[in-house]
Amino acid sequence: MPRWVTPCSSHLKNILLTVKAVVESRADIGAQLVKPGDAILIIRDQPRWLIIRCPCGCGEDIPINLDRRAGKAWRYYERGGRGATVFPSVWRDSGCESHFIIWGGHILLLDDHLEDETWSPADIGDLAQRVHASWPAGGLTPYLDVADRMGEIPWDVLEVCRQLTREGVLVEGTGRQRTMFRRRSGF
Ligand SMILES: [Zn+2]
Repeated sequence: MPRWVTPCSSHLKNILLTVKAVVESRADIGAQLVKPGDAILIIRDQPRWLIIRCPCGCGEDIPINLDRRAGKAWRYYERGGRGATVFPSVWRDSGCESHFIIWGGHILLLDDHLEDETWSPADIGDLAQRVHASWPAGGLTPYLDVADRMGEIPWDVLEVCRQLTREGVLVEGTGRQRTMFRRRSGF
């Protein structure tokens, strides 16, 4: 299995995201969040909030806004029975200052003090071939642009871009152009 490397760190702790309930309002949460990674999804016509017990173990609950009309919002994906994905990463600016990624029902906690841990997402089928086939010619292109054009989950496309880079098919930019990729000439 290839090692999965985030834009920020290669040190990961993998915790399961457990959605305990889907409710209509924050008043219905009660005491359902117990363990790190426990979560409540609030849906009223559309996903509004994901309230998650902090994966670091500090015991705080983190509200993640999923509703663009209510300000800065994260994207929420749930498809193919893989569990929830949230994009981009969540970085607390208070308390424990945890930084984590929610991807396919897993929470990847980024922590420089942890040992390296290998993790890859569930089977993403022929995504590598499709990303390769649709990658634009020319200069560096952000993976998010290609993910959006294809209607795919951004973390999946980033994973595949790194795989194609290891295979010598794509080339990743450096410095501020990290997470931007271009086709290697001849591929
Ligand atoms: Zn925490």
